[in-house]
Amino acid sequence: MYNPKSTKAEEFICNDEVLASLEYAENNKNNIELIDKILEKAKLGKGLSHREAAVLLDCDIEEKNQEIFKLAEKIKQDYYGNRIVLFAPLYLSNYCVNGCVYCPYHAKNKHIPRKKMTQKEIKEEVIALQDMGHKRLAIETGEDPVNNPIEYVLESLKTIYSIHHKNGAIRRANVNIAATTVENYRKLKEAGIGTYILFQETYNKESYEKLHLTGPKHNYTYHTEAMDRAMQGGIDDVGLGVLFGLESYRYEFSALLMHAEHLEAVYGVGPHTISVPRIRKADDIDPNTFDNGIDDDIFAKIIACIRISVPYTGMIISTRESQACREKVLKLGISQISGGSKTSVGGYAHPEDESEEDTAQFDISDRRTLDEVIKWLMELGYVPSFCTACYREGRVGDRFMAICKEQQIHNFCHPNAIMTLEEYLQDYASDETRKVGEFLVKKEVETLGDKKIRTVVEENLAKIKQGERDFRF
Ligand code: SF4
Ligand code: SF4
Repeated sequence: MYNPKSTKAEEFICNDEVLASLEYAENNKNNIELIDKILEKAKLGKGLSHREAAVLLDCDIEEKNQEIFKLAEKIKQDYYGNRIVLFAPLYLSNYCVNGCVYCPYHAKNKHIPRKKMTQKEIKEEVIALQDMGHKRLAIETGEDPVNNPIEYVLESLKTIYSIHHKNGAIRRANVNIAATTVENYRKLKEAGIGTYILFQETYNKESYEKLHLTGPKHNYTYHTEAMDRAMQGGIDDVGLGVLFGLESYRYEFSALLMHAEHLEAVYGVGPHTISVPRIRKADDIDPNTFDNGIDDDIFAKIIACIRISVPYTGMIISTRESQACREKVLKLGISQISGGSKTSVGGYAHPEDESEEDTAQFDISDRRTLDEVIKWLMELGYVPSFCTACYREGRVGDRFMAICKEQQIHNFCHPNAIMTLEEYLQDYASDETRKVGEFLVKKEVETLGDKKIRTVVEENLAKIKQGERDFRF
């Protein structure tokens, strides 16, 4: 029985409700009256239910689809402006006891080198990341209670936060590790993590169990209820995602939004972020063996419909996607991207090490350096942001969402984006990127409507140029 307020996986992601929503969407995909009504509701910027969103996703009336894309662009602009937050993944260990058939780290893959970084190696990686200009990381490990116990993750977080190389600092470490206990989530919270990220991979229980035949991840219920335990452990911000390509995208889309509705219904705060990875080629993995691949057009539609449905939830896209694809979807709703990423263990400090590619979790499409990505964003009219202010100022969970819902977050994000971009330009940018950036910073300062804020930003920019760092609203 479907119940978004239940904390039982099979009740808040009820298979019957997903199927009923898909049928409802199929039956109404040409119902102009209903589509118009849903679009009118969406224009209020307060989101949509999974059923309403499913109708928009299925809609194949060209004119209405154009309205959907336009509205997604408007909501993106209203809530996130022209800012794009940057981050990088950091793979600590690729030991894994699970059998996920889409991931090269699966336990049976014997030809991938296994590697777990020592604290000294992590330090080298973090210095390399700081020297690129990164301030925000997503920490990744495989699931292995012997090689990657929670103590290892906690110790690594301490190392990561302790390193200050030149003007560098990792100011926010988000963590993407396997589903765990309330007690362990509490430990992660105490260690000062930002968002806890866990991808569902697929919400379809039957497919999930087939795709995860061995290892603890086989337990659909435990995995699906992980965000509940994370919130019970005191973690304020959680990041959802599915791996598009494993199951029907229509199924995943509805279930993903049901998961968001469940978190909102029970904990009063929806997901902080949603990631939209698509299955990629990797060692021992051929994406063509999966039947549910989605093309760029459907991918863009999914992103637009998520943007409309959960306006306050940030959306993340990684370097799995090509430059062209990233360019296309940025304006539809993406608020965070990775740049200059390595998906291998130890790949930042030792890119020259040929074997590093062998430990990669997936092939990267966008291989540009962070500097190239920053310049590209600015030339497209975006303001790259290295801001990490909210969680350091205690604007997390429901407090964060309340500010978002009042559309006040812009007053924090925009000045912070300008100041952190200036830090990047001073410390890490190439001459050419700095030139483009300085012009942009000047222009963006002029757009700050609040005179007081503008004065503070101008003062802080002058201080940054003189060597001071870490200003924030
Ligand atoms: Fe292990 Fe995660 Fe890869 Fe599954 S997806 S094999 S849990 S690293
Ligand atoms: Fe993110 Fe908060 Fe910074 Fe805005 S002010 S970019 S929401 S951390």
